[in-house]
Amino acid sequence: FLLLGPPGAGKGTQSAIIARRTGVARISTGEMLRDAIARQTPLGAQVAPLMERGSLVPDSLLVALIAERVTEPDCTNGLLLDGFPRTVNQAEALDLLVQERQMELVVLNFDVPREVLLRRLSGRRWCPRCQATYHLENSPPKRTGLCDQCGSSLIQRADDQEDVVARRLQAYDAQTVPVI
Ligand code: AMP
Repeated sequence: FLLLGPPGAGKGTQSAIIARRTGVARISTGEMLRDAIARQTPLGAQVAPLMERGSLVPDSLLVALIAERVTEPDCTNGLLLDGFPRTVNQAEALDLLVQERQMELVVLNFDVPREVLLRRLSGRRWCPRCQATYHLENSPPKRTGLCDQCGSSLIQRADDQEDVVARRLQAYDAQTVPVI
């Protein structure tokens, strides 16, 4: 399964539900990259400045990350890609991978009005420890400001701030819309 759509469209929320119900592996490239930053790996150091300013990470890094991830044992019963591909180059690399591994591709494209995206992103809160996501109005945590899953303090993702959101939406229009 491939989930396409702009930031804030609900790819992460829906992919978590689909993965839970079907048992397929959920692969979120944004989560993998944020995890690399948190663990202070060389990949994390390379991508942090790009993500902070709302730019996409180079295709070569993403393609290598996905090519390795799909060989892990949890992917034998199918997989769900959230946030990849985001460029035409990445989509072409995925085509090759789909052919090589004889996979069947189902694409879900999330089409959400811009004003709804902006409301969702500005109200989104995030757990830096377990990466669970909340929304101040639509899905608040049980205890204000604290993660339901691990109890950590919730924060706003740096790239959910208004000026960075504008750049992420520009990147989506210029680089991801052609993928659709
Ligand atoms: P997300 O959590 O999916 O909104 O991704 C957060 C950030 O990670 C994006 O703004 C990009 O900087 C980076 N990123 C995630 N997936 C990709 C991708 N497929 N290609 C390039 N950059 C990506």
